[in-house]
Amino acid sequence: MLKRTEGIALKSTVFGEADLIVAFLTKDFGLMRGFAKSPRKIKSRFGSSLEPLTYSTLSFIGKEDAGLPRITQSDIIMPFSSLREDYKSFLKAAEIIDLALRFLPEKEPHPELFSLMLGTLKGLDAGADNRLGYLYHKIKFLQMSGLAPRLDMCGRCGCELVEKQGGYGPKHTFYVSHGTVICKDCGKETGQSMQIAEGALRFYASLLKWPVMSIDRIKAPEIFMNDLSSLIDSHIRFVLGPGTSSPDTVIYRITAGQK
Ligand SMILES: [Zn+2]
Repeated sequence: MLKRTEGIALKSTVFGEADLIVAFLTKDFGLMRGFAKSPRKIKSRFGSSLEPLTYSTLSFIGKEDAGLPRITQSDIIMPFSSLREDYKSFLKAAEIIDLALRFLPEKEPHPELFSLMLGTLKGLDAGADNRLGYLYHKIKFLQMSGLAPRLDMCGRCGCELVEKQGGYGPKHTFYVSHGTVICKDCGKETGQSMQIAEGALRFYASLLKWPVMSIDRIKAPEIFMNDLSSLIDSHIRFVLGPGTSSPDTVIYRITAGQK
């Protein structure tokens, strides 16, 4: 049966002489892998449309729940060429693609996550100051995957930190290996910890509530961004495991097998 959807190519792997296996984040079927026959033989539009980071309409044969559906046609909607040419933006894109490949289950539709990914890539492609969009993507992704760090209450006793510490307490302590903040009454834990300003906790809470696609209207205080960025990156590194997130490794992982 022929099916159509929209998808963002996340990774392509050479298969046999000239064939490719491509992982896509699709609008209708979630993370999905497909097989493409000989797109590399000639430098074709079909071949270009299957390169990582390309947003296309896709046609494939075979049930999306079959082992490996065959991609029969793919037409580029957005190539994200500016993003590819800018190393810093490309690195950010590679990181969020890597997150998707590692954490998303295959073949589970997730239209909200698709919108998030598309919105973030458009932001990176536009080349504006996209620091907040990039942070927002990671926070929303963790939230949607059930992996978001807990910053609203103590992970030990469940007290609400802001209330308990009486308004604008200076800093709270986030424990990386616990994935949560722990209040002063519950005492010190061992392991890597970070101090985070209460304002940053509030900002995090509002980002979690903010609907996808409307991020460009938010002005973020730089100091909260710094606190939150380093907290989220430490949290992701811990969740991913050691030695897995150097920029070169991440870029290699999505482009392995590409000429
Ligand atoms: Zn506590």
